[in-house]
Amino acid sequence: MPEKPVRVRFAPSPTGPLHIGSVRTALYNYLYAKKKKGTFILRIEDTDQKRFVKGAEKYIKDSLKWCGIIIDEGVGKWGGNLSKGPYRQSKRLDKYFKYINILVDKGFAYYAFDTPEELDKLRKECEQKGEVFTYDATIRGSLVNSLVLSEQEVQAKIRNKEPYVIRFKILENKILPFKDKIRGKLKVNTSTLDDKILLKSDGMPTYHLANVVDDHLMQITYIIRGEEWLPSLPLHILLYNAFNWELPQFAHMPLTLKPDGKGKLSKRDGDRLGFPVFPLEWKNPETSEKSSGYRESGYFPEAFVNIIAFLGWNPGTTQEIFSMEELIKAFSLERVIK
Ligand code: GLU
Repeated sequence: MPEKPVRVRFAPSPTGPLHIGSVRTALYNYLYAKKKKGTFILRIEDTDQKRFVKGAEKYIKDSLKWCGIIIDEGVGKWGGNLSKGPYRQSKRLDKYFKYINILVDKGFAYYAFDTPEELDKLRKECEQKGEVFTYDATIRGSLVNSLVLSEQEVQAKIRNKEPYVIRFKILENKILPFKDKIRGKLKVNTSTLDDKILLKSDGMPTYHLANVVDDHLMQITYIIRGEEWLPSLPLHILLYNAFNWELPQFAHMPLTLKPDGKGKLSKRDGDRLGFPVFPLEWKNPETSEKSSGYRESGYFPEAFVNIIAFLGWNPGTTQEIFSMEELIKAFSLERVIK
């Protein structure tokens, strides 16, 4: 079978400046795409209205541009083949509604009417017993949802505009094996997962739903992203399975750590040790507080790209100075370390 054309995406949320760890994710996606003569897509994941920050999208595009990471398709690209757009999630809501209804109709997802107060109470009761409350198969049968209520009761609640969320119904006690390029073969017991919310009470999809639907519709072949998303992977795989969609490949990048290796590198570490953690200077639109950037600190973009390329990858030779072209030639996901 001929191999499918390679399509990768960088999918930041416009919630603030890009951390160097995220720039590295973008860079690795770009290097992989160019090496494979594929397409690098920029998708903006802006369904979380509460975390939206003005100016962040422009900052993302300016940062990629400064680094020499060229967008082939997506937000920030005019012309070319944009047939899989729009590429801003807030403009794709119709698609998420269509697919959430498919999940509900097939019995993979259900309406849940439990109020935040009711859930809080249960959470506290569990805490007192030294347990953690999880909305899952052990408890869903005793809560207020469409698995318990009759069809008429559900319709009446929706008609009365009672707030609800839609949750994914996780299969009970199944071993789910999966593969990650960097982490290798993994497996989870589905009973350790909770019935995640796919549609929020404000009517917006959560990251999980929007992300999986878009990766499928945009025909993404390889998902290269930060390790913080690895715990979400079993849920995403279950979603692909529920839709009967072909799985893409996955590679979860190691986090960029503090110099002592304990925890993720933060802006405070950079301030303390005297280096920026952002590519460009960022001015917080609310507080006007400024955070320094590599560009304003006098680094050439080529040097900056060279630095971040080596955060978690090496060519296996003694060559340390690379142009973008050389990085594209030398790069492989096999040499990214965990
Ligand atoms: N919007 C997510 C983020 O901000 C994307 C994660 C992913 O690549 O799936 O990191």
